[in-house]
Amino acid sequence: MPDQFDNKRQRLEIWDTRWKSLDGVMDDLTRADSRSILRSPSRQETLRCIVKCLRAFTRSQFEFFRTGFENYWTQKSLHPLEPEYPADSVFGAILDQAASDLEVIQRAADQRAQGSAMVRKALVKADNYAFEVLKPAITGGLLPNGTTVVTYLQKTPAVQVIPYAPVALIGIPFTCVPPTDSEDMKKVARNYLSIPHEVGHYVFWHGYSKVKSERIHNYIARVTPRNPAWCSKWIEEIFADVYGCLFGDPAIALSCQDMQLEYALSKFVESDGEHPNPAVRPYIYQQVLAAKGDVDLAERLRKRWESLLQERDVDGEIILPGNLRSAVSEVIQSVTESQNVTVNAEASSAGAGAKAESAKKAGAKAEAAKKPVNRVIDAAYNLLPRPNGAAPESPAVADMEDVYNKFGDHLVLVGDNSSDLDKKLPELDCSLIPEIGSTDLWIDAIKKSDSSVKLALPQDVWVRVLQAGGWTNKGGGGNPKIT
Ligand SMILES: [Zn+2]
Repeated sequence: MPDQFDNKRQRLEIWDTRWKSLDGVMDDLTRADSRSILRSPSRQETLRCIVKCLRAFTRSQFEFFRTGFENYWTQKSLHPLEPEYPADSVFGAILDQAASDLEVIQRAADQRAQGSAMVRKALVKADNYAFEVLKPAITGGLLPNGTTVVTYLQKTPAVQVIPYAPVALIGIPFTCVPPTDSEDMKKVARNYLSIPHEVGHYVFWHGYSKVKSERIHNYIARVTPRNPAWCSKWIEEIFADVYGCLFGDPAIALSCQDMQLEYALSKFVESDGEHPNPAVRPYIYQQVLAAKGDVDLAERLRKRWESLLQERDVDGEIILPGNLRSAVSEVIQSVTESQNVTVNAEASSAGAGAKAESAKKAGAKAEAAKKPVNRVIDAAYNLLPRPNGAAPESPAVADMEDVYNKFGDHLVLVGDNSSDLDKKLPELDCSLIPEIGSTDLWIDAIKKSDSSVKLALPQDVWVRVLQAGGWTNKGGGGNPKIT
């Protein structure tokens, strides 16, 4: 009579069939012949190569867990993931995530193949602008050479975290498509300003700190110990804001303010648990702008934001993650008061000497522990390379529309200089990837280890292989699609 372990093993057949379905779809997409469904006039090789990597990676994940469960069940014992994560939840997480990635890749291809001339124009622009923002992380040694980007249109900005290919898959809003002709690109330019923040998320997950073996998300958490829990939940978003503001156009700081105004008042003072409250988030941008040397614009934006806060009558309490309540002024202080960023701003604006800087640093050190958001800003700012060239010039006119116009002028030129090899968007070439489906994460070695090693793995390791550096959103904690 079959026992529970025989029944469990029998259920594996359902998942084998599901994997075969998905595998077949991916196989069709990667064909180079005329039967391929993936026919995109641009980025075709890159898109096809991403599917190849996804397919190999999903296979290795599926087989690792399939063999893992089966080995335990053959010995009539439960797998370390059970009962918390039953096999169905594990295979469901793997195949759902693979399908979600596939949907994005297919969408990116379809939009390039079937989109209107304006849709295609928007995607070329977005690919090139995203690469322009990503490039400092490559030249600064945080990301490997050859890392590239692919954008696609969808309802909201987002980044799809994929551990198996050096590609930032970035969702951009449909409002990036110029309405009638490419002359309108300037009018829609501001809608591209979500891109630098999304690139920041990519760098957060995939970048390495200067200590080569440490990923940036681990590094930032390590160098900002004893953060209050509410601030720890914001680390990724703060990093993405700092990155976006450092390497995006200064207009991003203005766009951040405008985006926060889209929230109803109740949401304006609340945190969704991941993003800093809309009422205080613009201060992060003002800090970075000032540190970058754009002190004048930072100051004008600070004043603009203060008057908008007054207009909205925000002067009481705001709600932090974990349902904690705090005075708005205190949270603003936790963002704005710092030794490093403020000092850098003064140094670049007034030419303050190194001596004054170090004295101020020492004096502010004790205070720093009380300013958790600022500590994260500093950690991110100090890790990242400095933007090339002189500090950006603020538009001379006080009208904020000019800040957007200036970015529009820049965006119109992005990607048009195709002869400039240095700015050329790299394509992913599967023939140059030594091992398709590998991730450069420690989980690759675990998956290749002997069966005796695998049988001794604790639950925590199984969970982390399943999460695969933020790939799956099930099985305890990753976050594949981040806004
Ligand atoms: Zn974000």
